[in-house]
Amino acid sequence: MSNSGSACNGQPSQAPSLSSVPGHGQPLWLLAELTYKCPLQCPYCSNPLDFAEVGAELTTEQWLDVFRQGRELGAVQLGFSGGEPLVRQDLIELITGAHKMGYYTNLITSGVGLNEGKIAGLHEAGLDHIQVSFQAADPEVNNLLAGSEKAFKQKLKMAREVKAQGYPMVLNFVTHRHNIDRIDRIIELGVELEADYVELATCQYYGWAFDNIKQLLPTHEQLKRAERITNQYREQLAAAGNPIKLIFVTPDYYEERPKKCMNGWGQVFLTVTPDGTALPCHSARMLPIEFPNVIDMPLQKIWDESSGFNHFRGDSWMEEPCLSCDEKEKDFGGCHCQAYMLTGDMHNADPVCAKSEHHELILSARAMAETVAGNPADLLYRNERNSRIITTDRLLKFSRD
Ligand code: SF4
Ligand code: SF4
Repeated sequence: MSNSGSACNGQPSQAPSLSSVPGHGQPLWLLAELTYKCPLQCPYCSNPLDFAEVGAELTTEQWLDVFRQGRELGAVQLGFSGGEPLVRQDLIELITGAHKMGYYTNLITSGVGLNEGKIAGLHEAGLDHIQVSFQAADPEVNNLLAGSEKAFKQKLKMAREVKAQGYPMVLNFVTHRHNIDRIDRIIELGVELEADYVELATCQYYGWAFDNIKQLLPTHEQLKRAERITNQYREQLAAAGNPIKLIFVTPDYYEERPKKCMNGWGQVFLTVTPDGTALPCHSARMLPIEFPNVIDMPLQKIWDESSGFNHFRGDSWMEEPCLSCDEKEKDFGGCHCQAYMLTGDMHNADPVCAKSEHHELILSARAMAETVAGNPADLLYRNERNSRIITTDRLLKFSRD
């Protein structure tokens, strides 16, 4: 990968001075990544590659304190995520506390570890909403991608139970070249399970997905077909009076302009990772920025004053072509993680942008998707063993360099 030669060279770089940081919003959306533990092994997981080396998880009291501080800052929505949040034995206590504080709460789960009694307990604790993720609509592909032979059956059972207990439910399917051709079956499964929303989220290539891009990136033809079929279903379902909503998310690898990263860095979203590191975006941990920890700093100070949260606020960090671009208010230069992964410099324009000098990297990936077979046998699964191997390899490379 190329490097444009700016501040980023694997070392924490300078944040803009606070006097150059314009106003910012409130952290309306708080995401609590309670744990990196998970019984599944999805090869597109957005958790960091070195998750197995991350330190101790926050305690119940520490999490409740984060939620309280979040409410004081104006947070209204709280997502419980992971890893698999059901692994935390204090989940009910955390949800009860958050509910009493007035949050709208959402559980983002694989469904593995749920049972009828637990769903009832979550309801009693005041949980508002559940999102269940599936890997595919047929057991073979689902279980292959989840790295578990029992996952599909369990997910089906739990999705039915979630609805039976009166929850609004989102079903989330991460689509890629191994399941996107069955988009019709995926939508039908969503209808059958009476989901309120079906999120057809084409894999975004961060975290583990970036390492597996050769196996996962669909071709342009696959993507166009899936979008066409989704639109047909939308029309048919609406005509039949079915209220289900189908949300189709395209991968930015097939766009010419990047997406507006997290609706603006440090504007609306605040993620707290299992060890208390606070991030403006759940992927940002990969960046060579020193992010603050909720154990060391009050949330208000983190949000308003920390160099990590101020780093990409405003436009004083920008370089060309973004700096003089008349579209910079639309996307703020795109995704900094993507710029970092692909070019080695997080201050570059997101290479998805056709104006970027690195856009060729995206075009090459598209060309690669047309020619490689994308063999599932070559997938790198997200598990502790692989995480430790990757971390060790990186350390060895670092000491050699
Ligand atoms: S993406 Fe898969 S492996 Fe990652 S946390 Fe979710 S269920 Fe677990
Ligand atoms: S040059 Fe930068 S600001 Fe302009 S559209 Fe591309 S990414 Fe966005």
